[in-house]
Amino acid sequence: MSPTVPTRADLAALPPYVPGRTVPGAIKLASNEVPGGPLPSVSDAIARATAEVNRYPDMGAWALVDRLARELDVPGERVAVGCGSVSLCQQFVQALCEPGDEVLFAWRSFEAYPIVTQVGNATPVRVPLTDSHHHDLTAMLDAITDRTRVVFVCNPNNPTGTAVRRAELVRFLDAVPGNVLVVLDEAYREFVTDPDVPDGLEFTNRPNVAVLRTFSKAYGLAGLRVGYAVAAAPVIEAVRKVYVAFSVNALAQTAALASLDAREELLARCADIVRERTRVYDALTAADYAVPETQANFVWLPLGERTDAFAEHTLEHKVVVRPFTGEGVRITVGTPEENDVLLEAARTFPG
Ligand code: PMP
Repeated sequence: MSPTVPTRADLAALPPYVPGRTVPGAIKLASNEVPGGPLPSVSDAIARATAEVNRYPDMGAWALVDRLARELDVPGERVAVGCGSVSLCQQFVQALCEPGDEVLFAWRSFEAYPIVTQVGNATPVRVPLTDSHHHDLTAMLDAITDRTRVVFVCNPNNPTGTAVRRAELVRFLDAVPGNVLVVLDEAYREFVTDPDVPDGLEFTNRPNVAVLRTFSKAYGLAGLRVGYAVAAAPVIEAVRKVYVAFSVNALAQTAALASLDAREELLARCADIVRERTRVYDALTAADYAVPETQANFVWLPLGERTDAFAEHTLEHKVVVRPFTGEGVRITVGTPEENDVLLEAARTFPG
């Protein structure tokens, strides 16, 4: 028998990334995607770009970096593009952490954080959310040690939808040691309506603050994989060093540029989602669900032990949600018709 090739023993303990399920014929409210397909202008740009897929993409995605830099009014050396913002999360860990360094984040939060941390040979440190499902920034500050290198603050938080406000974030950033990078993960920024939830870009003049954004949500390009980070130039330089060569493909780069051209139209779609979010939130609350505030394109039902039963029940109504067993269910806000089906399922849940 041939010997087994040894692989990293610690990978056995890696928590799996559980993607939202796709069930043929069912309504998918499981992955925080937007329901609308690509705009014709974006589809056309992608179609034209296919003529050159025999060529490698622009390795540094420079056209996109330049465009983002101009729009965000920062130098290009402070912008990095990645194969989805999840890839940039991993790049931050790889670029900043030595083995055994600590990466701090709230829990529950984006499920990729513990994975990218462990893949990067760093140690995840989870700080529980408050009873109202918000970040506990005081406890997070207390949890910072000499080994802490990166703190992820997911704002609004996936999967709870809750958001950190300006005053508490400023207090937190003022108190975090300068050698710890705070990554403000703003994947859902375009759905934020409370003016007291700060735009992280307000803080990127601080050398230890980074902001992460994505084209997957509001811009509707989840299938193409492109996101970006804004941070101090030395941080961006390090993040680029751990970039997997050519990983932001040519179609993604083209589509991101075309989506920026169509920004107004895409943001108008977000406004529709936000209106539906209010309707879904109100209806679930009226049906006696305890729904935390949400500033994202999803709602969180902290159903505890009833979580899996709820997900099974909605599936019987042909709606796929995202259960976190024993904790709660995350439900993406979809079209009005999709949301109606979800609400009917929620109202008839016997639990
Ligand atoms: N951050 C958060 C908080 C997310 O919820 C997600 C997607 N689920 C991402 C980052 C990653 O998005 P993407 O890789 O598609 O840009």
